[in-house]
Amino acid sequence: MKDALSTLSLVLALGLALLAQERPAPPQLRSWTVIRAGTLIDGKSDTPRHDQLIFIRGNRIDSLADAAGRKIPADVTVIDLSKATVLPGLIDSHTHIFLQGEDPAEGGYDVNILKYPLSLRAARATVSARRALEQGFTVLRDLETEGAGYGDVGIKQAIEGGYIPGPRLFVLTRAISTTGGYPLEGYAPELVMPKGVEIVDGPVAARKAAREQLDHGADWIKVYMTHRSWVGKNGELVSQPTLTLEEIKAIVEETHGWGRKVACHAYSGIGLQRALDGGCDSIEHGLQISDAQIAQMLKQGTWYCPTIGVYYTDWASADTPQGQRDRLRASVHEESFRKALKAGVKIVFGTDMGGIPWTEPIAQEFPRMVDLGMSPMDAIKSATTRAADMLDMTGQIGVLAPGGYADVVAVSGDPLKDIKSLENVQFVMKDGKVFKSETK
Ligand SMILES: [Zn+2]
Repeated sequence: MKDALSTLSLVLALGLALLAQERPAPPQLRSWTVIRAGTLIDGKSDTPRHDQLIFIRGNRIDSLADAAGRKIPADVTVIDLSKATVLPGLIDSHTHIFLQGEDPAEGGYDVNILKYPLSLRAARATVSARRALEQGFTVLRDLETEGAGYGDVGIKQAIEGGYIPGPRLFVLTRAISTTGGYPLEGYAPELVMPKGVEIVDGPVAARKAAREQLDHGADWIKVYMTHRSWVGKNGELVSQPTLTLEEIKAIVEETHGWGRKVACHAYSGIGLQRALDGGCDSIEHGLQISDAQIAQMLKQGTWYCPTIGVYYTDWASADTPQGQRDRLRASVHEESFRKALKAGVKIVFGTDMGGIPWTEPIAQEFPRMVDLGMSPMDAIKSATTRAADMLDMTGQIGVLAPGGYADVVAVSGDPLKDIKSLENVQFVMKDGKVFKSETK
């Protein structure tokens, strides 16, 4: 005991001696960068500004100023984006870095879990993360690993540790559904098949799963409130409900106690209703939302992450039940989106990338939103400030303002006139470091 105490006092004394010396700041914290922005969309204001300077110190934005008449100090790094439109790093609030748009012809979803080593899946997830960053998405909320366990926690650590390039990740780990509520399915009943999520039955098991996932690094919890979908007797979209109200309430209560939030995959009907009654923070997909449910979302402040584009991919032929289902999903979804937009529901940009191959442009969701009546500026906000609010990162990400992280992207066109120009991000800075610079 005595020895331990004397060691402790030695350590304390050394610590105080170190504190007494003036510590030189690490070079990165001292370095200044100035970006010249021809047009600047800050993520917050409704109107762009022109000829701006962004002063960056280390990994944070220090200040913004009009370029006119302002002298740039000689010893700073200047990045000239004076011919470009500069925006905050973009946020995709619904991705799956552990999925690769599984082609049914190549075995579809199941081969991922049945045949691929986790190391292969992790290697491919590393590529997905890099692709997102290359396209200007400096933040992803990644909505579960689809059978790859806590792999997303490791990828996040690898990015934060500087081992691999990638966006800031909010990870949801394994996700939760019920028996009969998630693949793998359709195998002989004698076989115990692995699942793409953690399966729970009953509120005790549901709470335990949330605790486990939070304990192992989940930033949010994801729950599947519906499973599969088909056309009902009256031509309506039906989706099988999964968790009971008791089960979802246990998860939400537990997760909120940890200061975290719950994302609910919910297509329509009973499952969507239970998600809302259970206090879900975000509705994912929300294909068919009734007027009463929209009113409830407004009242409860529920976020809506619609992921429109993914429901236009891989339609079966029109004369099959599957094909009719695919077309109905897209048409009711459009209607739900328009109603939610009109009512003022908080809509965030999300794609379901991974469900879509990562070789495709992530920004293809923007024109989908604009085609359904959202203004281009509002669509940009859904992928910047509004998403930051949902992630409890207001002022830190999704905004070009003093104090925010220096996550900055640029495109050569005007995204307010042509939203598709966001598919061509030519400059990407994350955390104050330039990752890509292809501007002319
Ligand atoms: Zn998804």
